[in-house]
Amino acid sequence: MKSNVCVLGAGRMGSSIVRALLDRGYTTWVWNRTAAKCDPLATLGAKIAPSVEAGIQAADVVIINVLDYAASDALLKRDGFASALAGKAVVQLTSGSPRLAREEARWVEAHGAGYLDGAILATPDFIGKPETALLYSGSRDVYETHKPLLFALGGGTSYVGELPGQASALDTALLTQMWGGLFGALQGMAVAEAEDLHLETFRRHLSAFKPVVDAALFDVVDRTNARRFAGDDATLASLGAHYSAFRHLLEACEERGLNAAVPRAMDMIFRQALSRGSMEDDFASLAPWFRNGSPRQSGEPANA
Ligand code: NAD
Repeated sequence: MKSNVCVLGAGRMGSSIVRALLDRGYTTWVWNRTAAKCDPLATLGAKIAPSVEAGIQAADVVIINVLDYAASDALLKRDGFASALAGKAVVQLTSGSPRLAREEARWVEAHGAGYLDGAILATPDFIGKPETALLYSGSRDVYETHKPLLFALGGGTSYVGELPGQASALDTALLTQMWGGLFGALQGMAVAEAEDLHLETFRRHLSAFKPVVDAALFDVVDRTNARRFAGDDATLASLGAHYSAFRHLLEACEERGLNAAVPRAMDMIFRQALSRGSMEDDFASLAPWFRNGSPRQSGEPANA
């Protein structure tokens, strides 16, 4: 039998979650701070919960999707809710940090409920589609028991691990890579336009260059995973070769008076690494710098 669900939060994402659940035939209760936001969902078949507590009581699975954890805490962490939560599954889909997920898991489990922390790798219009990815961590039991319901929100759903912060950590790690690319695109456009290149030209060549960039990206991950930091026959470009090309970016920014805040941060990392490592090292030799805040000590072998 299908679980009864209560969705707390009917913003853009919460409403989309409710619609996907209704599409799959789940009895879905919804509560929102401004009740009127639930009206369009009620016309689709959602049941409006008169209060958070009533919604929790009516459901087996409570999905929370509000602005942030502070808003979520204000809803959930109230005296008298302990008995309402006992035996339920709480699926937190509000964006938060690994620490917030760990704290929430402790609180929810102390109140007798199972806890799953989720990260949504999609915008609301993608909820319910076969390719849409959502990441979960926390109770494996909740994940396995409610798999059909979780997959109703996205066919690319996956379980990351039992530590509650892991879904949020993976989400942040993936977004970090995205921001690196987006900031890089902003800098690249400034350089191109400063030299009278049209952005359509930049875009076209960006697309052609992408397979090379993707290969370098996966190479740095694989080499870091294998701790193969010393340059070898498989090195695509040594640290020295990278730095030599990179200095042209600094020069281009300086000459045209472009904002060089991002390149300057990269330059500092290159120079610190090169002062302690070797021009022949692989680009992946920069990885330890990001873990410890400083590159490896001189004398430490590059493949340590
Ligand atoms: P939204 O602004 O459309 O909705 C926010 C919701 O939070 C509303 O229902 C609002 O009533 C509620 N809320 C805010 N403060 C509250 C409070 N103090 N008490 C009770 N309810 C409160 O935002 P959204 O786009 O639906 O995002 C919701 C969550 O989903 C966020 O954590 C967001 O990071 C996450 N998310 C959104 C997207 C996206 O593309 N929109 C993608 C991934 C994750």
